[in-house]
Amino acid sequence: MDYEVAICGGGPVGLMLACELGLAGVDVVVLERLTEIDQTIKAGAINLPTGEAFYRRGMLGALQEEQRLGIERMLEFRRSRGADVVAAPRKKPMFAGHFAGIMVGGDLVDYDDPDFRDVGPVAGVMAVGQQAIEAILAERAAELGVTVRRGVEVTGFDADDDGVTVHFGESSLRAGWLVGCDGGRSQVRKLTGFDFPGTDPSITAYQAIVDLEGAEELRPGWNRTENGIYVHGPIPGRILSVEFDSPPADREAPITAAELQASLRKTSGVEVTVTAVRSATRATDNARQATTYRRGRVLLAGDAAHVHSPFGGQGLNLGIGDAVNLGWKLAATIQGRAPEGLLDTYTTERHPIGAWVLEWTRAQVALMRSDPRAHALHGVVTDLLRTRDGATYLAKKLSGVLHRYDLGDGHPMVGFSAPDLEFADGTRLGGHCADGKPLLLDLADSAELRAVAANWDVRVLTTKSVSRPELTGLLLRPDGHVAWASEESTVEGLIEAVSRFAIPV
Ligand SMILES: Cc1cc2nc3c(=O)[nH]c(=O)nc-3n(C[C@H](O)[C@H](O)[C@H](O)COP(=O)(O)OP(=O)(O)OC[C@H]3O[C@@H](n4cnc5c(N)ncnc54)[C@H](O)[C@@H]3O)c2cc1C
Repeated sequence: MDYEVAICGGGPVGLMLACELGLAGVDVVVLERLTEIDQTIKAGAINLPTGEAFYRRGMLGALQEEQRLGIERMLEFRRSRGADVVAAPRKKPMFAGHFAGIMVGGDLVDYDDPDFRDVGPVAGVMAVGQQAIEAILAERAAELGVTVRRGVEVTGFDADDDGVTVHFGESSLRAGWLVGCDGGRSQVRKLTGFDFPGTDPSITAYQAIVDLEGAEELRPGWNRTENGIYVHGPIPGRILSVEFDSPPADREAPITAAELQASLRKTSGVEVTVTAVRSATRATDNARQATTYRRGRVLLAGDAAHVHSPFGGQGLNLGIGDAVNLGWKLAATIQGRAPEGLLDTYTTERHPIGAWVLEWTRAQVALMRSDPRAHALHGVVTDLLRTRDGATYLAKKLSGVLHRYDLGDGHPMVGFSAPDLEFADGTRLGGHCADGKPLLLDLADSAELRAVAANWDVRVLTTKSVSRPELTGLLLRPDGHVAWASEESTVEGLIEAVSRFAIPV
């Protein structure tokens, strides 16, 4: 074997997975066809699970700095449009997002709801662009000694029972496993023959950064018109234009200024002129998902495993979640530390969340359409989301706090991402997860708990939780999800919980 794992695609998901594998000591190579990070405008926001994944691996500061720079760019745009931008913003919302263009009101959401409890310092970290995410991960991959080979396009591979021979140009390499993180048009998915059912595209959307003449006539924010939807901002030159009558004639064709101008004129009714295109993407509502994320020694993650419209900003987050779920399981399998079937829980845990995102994006397209019935329904949903309960429901769904894996019965926290507990020494749980190892919190100085832990490859931290003093113990998987928690003095259920993802030492 040249490598234990080869990852095809060094976008955000491939890089995150590479970092998780590298952290676990797996010899991994990333093969990426582009020579530089793609600067095309794509994702502009992250949710709480993505923020937590970065925080737990020591990358929160980098996210915060990128958000600060991004906000400065947005404020500059608003000032240029004559907005009265105050220097000190109001109380920052924990999370912001939209559903079919209906914004979640920051002041309306009930952040005292128990589901938002102990979110920790990732609260409010959301406006971070995709290129920044990729740059942070690329730097981290380099620190971890991961091999990232740019300018290498995978052209094919042969998989057998022992590994995969990956071909690129005239060369090839041998790896124990191949993971396709090669985006929505994944060659790995197609060549392996993964089933990819779903619904066909019916709309054409453009997101772009352009130079515009006549932009003063465009209204800020999301605008529904009888011919579609358009958005101008929140950064200079950024436009979104959505037409609902048909999918693009040719998705692969380069996007021209004339095409963007025609779409924007149609959806806005304003005679704007696009004088230059800085960056542009075309999107549809094609919504498909692989029925399984693993076939033998080949796995899929990110857009390679699921595609959907970009509305509501879930794609990158979904893929980062895949990578964080898969990394430690694949590492444990390779290193002989995994119980039977652990790797297959990657599909069973991640597929339902992917399926939910597809449904969520389909619902938004139905609501965004231009016909009078969709307009009427949009009005009803807007009214509902402007209530406290409605806004709180939407914030919970969008932010990712409700994501849960089925890890059996037990304490209500089991299956959810762990609360960012505050400890007696002033540290927080997220600051103790950088090594990516399972962590057992001994919160009531229990010799019995420590005796159980001695038989398993888990790190034990004996401390006290200030924010949840009722907890006596908590077992955290490497991806930060709670495998076991207790408020009792016994360790009932602990062995069963740990044996789901680890083997005795
Ligand atoms: C307009 C737009 C707005 C979006 N907004 C959001 C948002 O706000 N929030 C959000 O969460 N998501 C958003 N998304 C979705 C997000 O951009 C994607 O879900 C994300 O890029 C998926 O990451 P990935 O690593 O799976 O795939 P990609 O980012 O597509 O990366 C795949 C990589 O694989 C490489 N590759 C492909 N084939 C090969 C090959 N044969 N050999 C070697 N390398 C190969 C590619 O060059 C690429 O670098 C948006 C998308 C668009 C288009």
